[in-house]
Amino acid sequence: MMQQIDNYKQEMTAFEATTAEAAEAFRIKYLGTKGIVKAVMGEIKNVPNDQKKAFGQILNEFKQFAEARYEVLKESTVNGQPSTVNSIDISLPGTPVAIGTRHPLSIVRNQIVSIFKRLGFAVAEGPEIEDDWHNFGAMNLPEDHPARDMQDTFYINQHPAWLLRTHTSSVQARVMEAQRPPIRVICPGRVYRNETISARAHCFFHQIEGLYIDENVSFADLKQTLYFFVQEMFGKEVKVRFRPSYFPFTEPSAEMDISCLICGGSGCTVCKHTGWVEILGSGMVHPKVLQNFDIDPEKYTGFAFGMGVERVCQLKYRINDLRLYSQNDVRFLRQFTGAV
Ligand SMILES: [Zn+2]
Repeated sequence: MMQQIDNYKQEMTAFEATTAEAAEAFRIKYLGTKGIVKAVMGEIKNVPNDQKKAFGQILNEFKQFAEARYEVLKESTVNGQPSTVNSIDISLPGTPVAIGTRHPLSIVRNQIVSIFKRLGFAVAEGPEIEDDWHNFGAMNLPEDHPARDMQDTFYINQHPAWLLRTHTSSVQARVMEAQRPPIRVICPGRVYRNETISARAHCFFHQIEGLYIDENVSFADLKQTLYFFVQEMFGKEVKVRFRPSYFPFTEPSAEMDISCLICGGSGCTVCKHTGWVEILGSGMVHPKVLQNFDIDPEKYTGFAFGMGVERVCQLKYRINDLRLYSQNDVRFLRQFTGAV
């Protein structure tokens, strides 16, 4: 019934009258003794008692709408103006537009990007379908490296040399190919691994990698840059520690931990009672990588780092199941209403 009333209203709004006869035809059709308004009002007898009051109000409003429209049409036949001019009430409030929310990964990515932008890093992007050279070869990943294993990487059947990038280091490769130092970029983007989907692993996730190459870039620069980042991201009280690690594209390499935000370092289940949680990998760019792009390692040095956006998001919002990010469950997503 409500739908029908709306339809009638639209019909009435669309009704045009340039002559008195046309306006009269409108009156007979809608407001006459056998008119539509009367017929609709007769429906009240079929409405349950407890809804009669609410429906009565709707009917009254419908009748007033028809009468007002008739007045407008009558008027327009006198002064010869098209009736539609008078029928638009610009003082009415507009139809509300539902405002969505940003995805938590977008919120966190934007925060990370904005922190590094303030340090002078530019944003670089590249293709998600990559060739073997940009994804592996150029990054000093030898042929027999486990990351090249078919288990981990999605290759493309028709073009065995093409693959879905396994990290955004491929974007670093493309930047080093196209630019000369000084280079200072961050590379946010989606990456793919052939993993079984679980709470802790997914076949795609998001990374932000960073690369800074110039003369006299040292490990102290790396540490201070990343320390500034975590302080901006998690607060001034956060502590960091570096653990020696191995990556083919950096030498020396280090994993960076931050003090556990939940227990403050005293030990809890999130930090597995160590007081520290892992946040990113980093290191000084391997001379071999620089040589691959004709950048002289005797003159230039650089550092690189990479982090998972999901990981930072997990620490910030305590989201422990990776699958939540891509299930499109609005009950999950709505919790981020109002977040910039
Ligand atoms: Zn803890």
